[in-house]
Amino acid sequence: MSTPSVMRTGQPCVLKGRVVTMDDGLRVITNGCIYVKDGVIVSVRKDGDKPPVGFRKAVVIQTGGTIFPGLIELHNHLSYNVLPLWDVPKRYQHRGQWPGTPLYRRDISGPMNVLGRTKGYSAAIVRYVEAKCLLAGVTTSQGISLSSNKGINRFYKGYVRNVEQPIDKSLPKARTSIRDVDPKKVEKFFADLKRTSCMLLHLSEGKGARARKHFLALQRKDESWAINRALAGIHAAALNRTDFGVMGKKNASIVWSPLSNYLLYGDTAEIASAKAEGVNITLGSDWSPSGSRNLLGELKVAAAVSDHLGGLFTKAELVSLVTRNAAKALRWQKSLGTIEAGKLADLVVISRKSGDPYDRLISATEEDVDLVMISGTARAGRAKLMKKLGKITEEVRVGSKVVALNLDPDGADEIVGKLSLADARKLLATGMRKLPELAKTLERSVASFSPKSFREEAETWYIDLDHEDGETVFALFKKTAAALKEPRKRPLSKSVQPMKLDGLTMSGDNGYRARIRRSRNLPNFLKAAFR
Ligand SMILES: [Zn+2]
Repeated sequence: MSTPSVMRTGQPCVLKGRVVTMDDGLRVITNGCIYVKDGVIVSVRKDGDKPPVGFRKAVVIQTGGTIFPGLIELHNHLSYNVLPLWDVPKRYQHRGQWPGTPLYRRDISGPMNVLGRTKGYSAAIVRYVEAKCLLAGVTTSQGISLSSNKGINRFYKGYVRNVEQPIDKSLPKARTSIRDVDPKKVEKFFADLKRTSCMLLHLSEGKGARARKHFLALQRKDESWAINRALAGIHAAALNRTDFGVMGKKNASIVWSPLSNYLLYGDTAEIASAKAEGVNITLGSDWSPSGSRNLLGELKVAAAVSDHLGGLFTKAELVSLVTRNAAKALRWQKSLGTIEAGKLADLVVISRKSGDPYDRLISATEEDVDLVMISGTARAGRAKLMKKLGKITEEVRVGSKVVALNLDPDGADEIVGKLSLADARKLLATGMRKLPELAKTLERSVASFSPKSFREEAETWYIDLDHEDGETVFALFKKTAAALKEPRKRPLSKSVQPMKLDGLTMSGDNGYRARIRRSRNLPNFLKAAFR
């Protein structure tokens, strides 16, 4: 095979390395070759076996590493991931307790409202938070919803596949619901659930009866349950073994977010019960204010909890949480979640081939991520590999390593256009440092806000803030105007403080682990895992 230096569009490529297929037989090929063409895995073979037809002129990449299916994250409020870890002020019992508090407004909703409504920042936010996913090997996540001043809503079309708008037309779209189900509307919820392939629903976040009642809201009048295999319950932290029994019997899934649960509530879901009852378990890092910086970090938390429970999950099972189980929850298992012929080429290469193959991913840092490929296009990785596989638009330092990115402006979402990660990062870091000033400017513009003239301005996209009730840009502007007139509330400019942009990765951020260890509600075994 010849090896041209740069891959042309549509040209096939071969990735060589140790292949962790995650297929039904959990096959690991020590010296394997993955043949990729037109975004699809054509074949997976042993090195030395005859290549399939059409790969004579393929670009051959000796990765020297261990290759996994791309990581699939089923819960993350991505737009909030510019915010640093929140110093959670107390131990909460349920999700109704922290939104709306003065500290939440100062540290989370206030800054997000200011950044989310100041022109230029929405673009920087989507660029930055998507890069955080890519640098950790995440190839699918929940999407970012946008609203324009013209009253249009849509999802950000990025490089990372999103579950609500998954690039490939053959993949069914998932739906996301942040709000709890109203028990009076359970029949409508069930009708919606039956019409969808996957419904990602916040379910009983917190511990105790108040949180659990949102699960009980899914029980119908005849005592049957409004649950089927399309339900993916996010958190499910307050469910007991009987509840998980119901979920398991219905082939439902959960999205476990242990770090976020421990940071806010001092405890997490009864994950051993969920496993024992046959619930399909997946993983999500929730958001950076009270969760892992990315899915690779959350996988380590899951491993630490598993160890604490006496080795609840095998290493292969831990990797399944972020690959094949997640694909199954989305009903994408025919297209993604494993490395097999006919599947989409969403792949992540982790450096080195030594040691336990599954542990390579579990213990990997972002510095170990050598290549991230989505639909056959290399998006992030070591410059040497990236150069052979296509375009490099910029480079970024990750710990001691330089990572090349392909954030090609051709085909990029119009909200980001040519905005580089470096420029987005600079704008956000500066803006967050002078948040009170930005807030003041925003207050002046909001004071004279008129929906009519706002609508007549050139089309501008703003991020929707899912935790602030999924409000559209109009609702947000109106609410700020109302809040300004309310004398009891401090204006945002007096409430927010200068802040530091959250780091792109954990690698190279020495203070991060110490900040996690200082958090109030984290049990000692987890603090030890962050040493
Ligand atoms: Zn959430």
